[in-house]
Amino acid sequence: MLRIVLLGPPGAGKGTQAERLAAELGVPHISTGDILRQAVAKGTELGLRAKEIMESGQLVSDEIMLGIIRERLARPDSQRGFILDGYPRTIPQAEALDGLLSECAEPPVVIVNMELDREELVRRIAGRRSCPNCGAVYNVYSQPPRRQGVCDVCQAGLMQRADDHEETVRKRLDVYDRQTRPLLDHYAGRLTRVDGQGAPDAVFERLTELVRAAAGLRQGHRT
Ligand code: AMP
Repeated sequence: MLRIVLLGPPGAGKGTQAERLAAELGVPHISTGDILRQAVAKGTELGLRAKEIMESGQLVSDEIMLGIIRERLARPDSQRGFILDGYPRTIPQAEALDGLLSECAEPPVVIVNMELDREELVRRIAGRRSCPNCGAVYNVYSQPPRRQGVCDVCQAGLMQRADDHEETVRKRLDVYDRQTRPLLDHYAGRLTRVDGQGAPDAVFERLTELVRAAAGLRQGHRT
């Protein structure tokens, strides 16, 4: 059982790294941003409520988010463990998560914070493009597709997220500073810090090593 919470500002590379780490460790990658984007794409009631909030760079309410995360963590695949990406994002969310996780007497959760300087964050987010068809993620600066604007995997046209435009990015980083950064104090003493600078492969190597050490896993272990 391996439960990991991946913290860090937007653009730090949480999504990319969480996806790889989940595959490596054999646990689900739970991204609240992805869950909300799927709801928006499907036009569900949740999606209709979340769309404008997300596009303006603000946070969806703690109450809605708790409902989402409680339902997701109750599913069978989460019983093997999970990697949480994008939750918690506020102190009340962290407190709610503490409550949910304390209900099972399992080994402690590994809390990881990915760090990166601000200008690099803006560059990474503003350069991000993703495939609406298969979900592959690229970056026009650091990880461009072979053909500009076209997915390497499935040849669909790449898109920029509505909240990845520079003005909204700066707003999201301000929201992060105000509402999410205080989580670093909330988890003080329990945090594993990972430098998010550099190529995705190098970051992944650092991250897996630190997670394995924090969780007390041997090399090659799958849950
Ligand atoms: P992300 O893909 O994690 O950057 O999330 C995209 C957007 O979804 C955020 O800017 C928020 O508007 C919303 N969102 C995702 N996770 C949360 C959360 N835990 N609490 C509130 N809003 C969230």
